[in-house]
Amino acid sequence: MPRPSSLTRRELIALAGVGAGILILGEGVLASEAMSGPASLARAGSSESCDSTEAGVSENPKAAASERSPEGAAASPEEVADSAAKASMSLEDLPWNLRLVNKDHPLDEDFPLPDLEEIIDGYAVDVRIRDDLAALLKAARKAGHDPVVCSAFRSHDRQRELYRARVSQSKDEGKRGQEAKDDAAFWVAPPYASEHEAGLAVDLVDGDYQQLDERQEETATQKWLMKHCAKYGFILRYPTDKSAITGIGYEPWHYRYVGKEAAFAIAESGLCFEEWIEKYLDQGNA
Ligand SMILES: [Zn+2]
Repeated sequence: MPRPSSLTRRELIALAGVGAGILILGEGVLASEAMSGPASLARAGSSESCDSTEAGVSENPKAAASERSPEGAAASPEEVADSAAKASMSLEDLPWNLRLVNKDHPLDEDFPLPDLEEIIDGYAVDVRIRDDLAALLKAARKAGHDPVVCSAFRSHDRQRELYRARVSQSKDEGKRGQEAKDDAAFWVAPPYASEHEAGLAVDLVDGDYQQLDERQEETATQKWLMKHCAKYGFILRYPTDKSAITGIGYEPWHYRYVGKEAAFAIAESGLCFEEWIEKYLDQGNA
């Protein structure tokens, strides 16, 4: 079963150094976010903010590339089902492209940082999804749209920073203690619980409307992306009618890579990723 690439201790230490750089850059970015727009975090209901902490990564996007996983291709559902038929399968056994990351299933603290490769303007993603993402963006542009990468890989520190900022907003809105944390977590995943930290998610907005709110779904770019993303291995991860299951509010801009076959299967099923994975594992274990 494919496993995420493992890093040596030395590489982890080196990457920790990169992370420190991200944190410093992140503070500068926060300042620019506040200046550059109606600070997405301040909007009621809005979740993530466009960020460019990835700029810190871009200085050395291939820092961990020396021990890149040989299993570059996304495992298809059929391949996994075949394996599943041979042995009981659990979430931990799923291939990298089907890895479930949410509040109930956060990344382990020792989960290796993904091998990153820049996609555009200092934004990096897991190298295994880069080409499909580039193809998606290219196809959207060819169709006359203007997709803008608004967020990609985030360090744990950056995720923590965004989460804490959202908790502060919830407190400003009168919520207290756990209530404030729960409210914040509906919009911004706590550290280790975001797919952005795994390098498997990207936030895409319309160049003419770069706001992270529900109106994003009305843009021509977003309509095109929702219709065509599966062809490139992506799913709209937090659909409007699935918040009770995903635990995350509607995000018509957050796309998660799962591989092409799984993306088609999920789109066809009408299920959200949590539901589909559960059904998929049940079938595999049957
Ligand atoms: Zn996102």
